[in-house]
Amino acid sequence: MRRRLNLIIVAPVIVFLSVAWRIGADIQAQRESQKVSSAERLDLDSRAQKAFVIARETVAGCRQAKNGSSWNYRYNIHMDGSALVVSVAVNLVPAGGVTPMDLDKAKLTWEEGIERIWSGVFALETESGNRYPVIVDVSFRGPGFDHQVIVRPGSGRTDELNWNIQDRPELVAHEFGHMLGLYDEYEGGALAPQHGVIDPESIMASNPTRGAVAKARHYELFRQWFVRKTMMRNVRIIHEKASHE
Ligand SMILES: [Zn+2]
Repeated sequence: MRRRLNLIIVAPVIVFLSVAWRIGADIQAQRESQKVSSAERLDLDSRAQKAFVIARETVAGCRQAKNGSSWNYRYNIHMDGSALVVSVAVNLVPAGGVTPMDLDKAKLTWEEGIERIWSGVFALETESGNRYPVIVDVSFRGPGFDHQVIVRPGSGRTDELNWNIQDRPELVAHEFGHMLGLYDEYEGGALAPQHGVIDPESIMASNPTRGAVAKARHYELFRQWFVRKTMMRNVRIIHEKASHE
């Protein structure tokens, strides 16, 4: 009995230690860096960039908007060595009248549209100037899923969990924003309870068309996650493409 109890206590400790080890050298380096000078800290940050790994976590919850509407958000987030990766797996369930061929075609268009708008557009920049692009990866393949969406024929009303086969990529990219926990940004929409934003350029505007864009504020929760994990200070969200154009 005593031996069995010991095992019960020791096993979680081993799991914890191996997870902590896998979180990677950069976190260790960051903790160490708090004891050293800022010059040394910059050096640790730049050396660590090559293998910056933070284990994957699932972030989920419920949003309640000012107008009373509510929805669930859920995504997975990790640092893969050089980028912050946010991934969401969506199960597209065809309603009657949607053929497998229709659905396959829509999947291609929607994946391209969602990733064009959300992925590789912004980056996190650390105090020492290192940049970690935010990669957003949507997948419609299983086996596990974060959300389930009914796909109807034609072009009816669209919300987070009900899409229509003719929906433009911008429209599903807007609904994808709700899956990341974002609020609407138009009068009459599901605005944030405090400090609701109205922005016609935003992908979270009403009925977004080509030209609608993601904004730095949409990445704030990812930035906060990164700061909690690394304990780095002065991490900013910057436009990744600005300097390449
Ligand atoms: Zn919306």
